[in-house]
Amino acid sequence: MDIGQILKSTANCPCGRNHTVDVKAVEIGSGLLNKVGEILEKHGFPKKILVVSDNNALRVSKGILDNLMECGFVFDARVFQNQRTADITEVEEIEALCKNVDGVLAVGTGSVDDICRYAAARQNKRFAIFGTAPSMDGYASDGSPITFGSFKLTCQAKQPEIIIADTKILAEAPVELKSAGFGDMIAKCVGLVDWRVSNILTGEYYCENIANLTREAVKRITALADKVTLNNEKAAGAIMESLIFTGIAMKLAGTSRPASGCEHIISHFWESKKLEQGLISDFHGKKVGVATLMVAKEYHKMAQLESIKAHKENIDWKEIEQAYGENLAPEMLKLNTPTVTDEVDPAVFEEKWQEIRQIIRDELPTYEELMKLFKLTGAATTIEEIAVSPELCKLAYKYHPFMRRRISLMRLRWMFDYPTEYCPQ
Ligand SMILES: [Zn+2]
Ligand SMILES: [Zn+2]
Repeated sequence: MDIGQILKSTANCPCGRNHTVDVKAVEIGSGLLNKVGEILEKHGFPKKILVVSDNNALRVSKGILDNLMECGFVFDARVFQNQRTADITEVEEIEALCKNVDGVLAVGTGSVDDICRYAAARQNKRFAIFGTAPSMDGYASDGSPITFGSFKLTCQAKQPEIIIADTKILAEAPVELKSAGFGDMIAKCVGLVDWRVSNILTGEYYCENIANLTREAVKRITALADKVTLNNEKAAGAIMESLIFTGIAMKLAGTSRPASGCEHIISHFWESKKLEQGLISDFHGKKVGVATLMVAKEYHKMAQLESIKAHKENIDWKEIEQAYGENLAPEMLKLNTPTVTDEVDPAVFEEKWQEIRQIIRDELPTYEELMKLFKLTGAATTIEEIAVSPELCKLAYKYHPFMRRRISLMRLRWMFDYPTEYCPQ
């Protein structure tokens, strides 16, 4: 991938923003595991570092520590068991460990990266990633979803300056992880709907060039759908590149809008509720994929409405508080004071309805179209496959929009009396 080309395509952008990235190099190739030290050195990464990984990631990256040593790196290492969460306590642990080094190298996927990304930002350390599976799009992101207790918040973190991946390792990643990467990518179609809807209703910042970067990445991955599960280096490399691409899009936009919509919030709601009971959720992209199917069905159903009667929302906040429960309610209330739909004028909502219907049809494949792709990629399609109970699914379906201060069509259901109870699964 050519970062220069991406920057060129968004230079002098009509959106008025000066788009910048911190990532300097993305190197994806066969056998790069044995060149990690060399690559880091080439791009001027400091020699005194903290390596953070977990057992699984380090097992598939066998030899990486020797390689670093041979290249003259001096490092401490923190290897987690099998890291499936990213909690603020773990961030604090890494912060303490990286105090006396100059850089942090994360070896692994989602949670390991998220912990390091936030710790490196808070301690102002240089940051690089060696990615081990094409399972999610967070590699190049500058936001970290972190749990505080069990509430999941997206924190402003640090974009890595160097991202390295070995296509041999990516291709050999478990099928479940590769399918999860597809789920995380296809979710962008919902993200773009929510972003554009908010833009036309509230004037929220939107950039067509960046939306196009996301669309291109989605197109590329859907064209590879039948190869997602194969042990194929070329396909795995291309999928990884698309995932990194959308991470870069988030950084360019300064918001996660180009990469996540209400389906991500539904997934976060499931996670938080399960975490409260001490349960670890399934892979990020796997859950997000299932949520995308649910939302696609709902949004296309909404698009059938020829007109709407909109009004200011009339919410029983006691009911919402009860749904979140005493642990999660205080954070939730903070995010909703004042309520985000204050920014939406009901008259404008009614007036723009035809445009919104068109956005849904333009951006979002139908449930049936998505199902075909999901089957090809072996991605999960039902809540049973992600161990979410029908009760939790219903709860999330109705109440997830209050978990994030963000306009989505799901959040706007309260402004035109659209059913909030319905659960299509
Ligand atoms: Zn722009
Ligand atoms: Zn995601």
